[in-house]
Amino acid sequence: MGLVEVSVLIPAAGEGQRLGLGPKAFLKVGGKTLLEWTLSAFQEAAEVLVALPPGVEPPRGLRAVFLEGGPTRQASVARLLKAASLPLVLVHDVARPFVSRALVERVLSATRAQGAAVPVLPLPDTLIRPEGEAYGEVVPREALRQVQTPQGFFTALLREAHAYAEKRALSATDDAQLVRALGYPVALVEGERAAFKITYPEDLLLAEALARVWSA
Ligand code: C5P
Repeated sequence: MGLVEVSVLIPAAGEGQRLGLGPKAFLKVGGKTLLEWTLSAFQEAAEVLVALPPGVEPPRGLRAVFLEGGPTRQASVARLLKAASLPLVLVHDVARPFVSRALVERVLSATRAQGAAVPVLPLPDTLIRPEGEAYGEVVPREALRQVQTPQGFFTALLREAHAYAEKRALSATDDAQLVRALGYPVALVEGERAAFKITYPEDLLLAEALARVWSA
């Protein structure tokens, strides 16, 4: 896999509040922490930078550089970006442990061609805008996609997008939003259901089941 010119940035500085089990980076699934799962997906990367919550001791024996994260995901990524030394970055949430080589390759080849690329998936459920407590207007699901990571960018472009966001006080839940706010198009590639984000307690059960059969 061509990861020689890629800095992998892993924001892992969240407190994991919705799950209530402490920072997700150190949660274990199938005998490995989410951080270990994530790092094994990017083994061939030339540089891996990880943002951890302030005051957390970096784990030993892992091939990554550890930095202190910021108060938001965006701030954590901004710190990682400052330290990145290669021309492309892949930004990947530690909460998504199951990243296949094929997914990384799809994101990277679109990034090389277009400067910015993210994986997306169609939504299987009917979607509505509730009216108070009642069923409301249906939002056409065909028009929507859910956005995953890893997200790939030219490093210079993502730096410019973060600087622009800081100047305008924009806040975003992912990096592609900031690139788009700068006026630069972000390409879409096909995501993967297995790359789901561990957010709620039930997600851990799914992750345990997947860990037993996973081979990237
Ligand atoms: O909270 P959320 O699910 O949006 O977090 C997405 C990712 O951002 C997680 O991997 C989390 O560890 C990271 N994060 C961070 N710094 C923060 C908050 C979240 O690196 N201050």
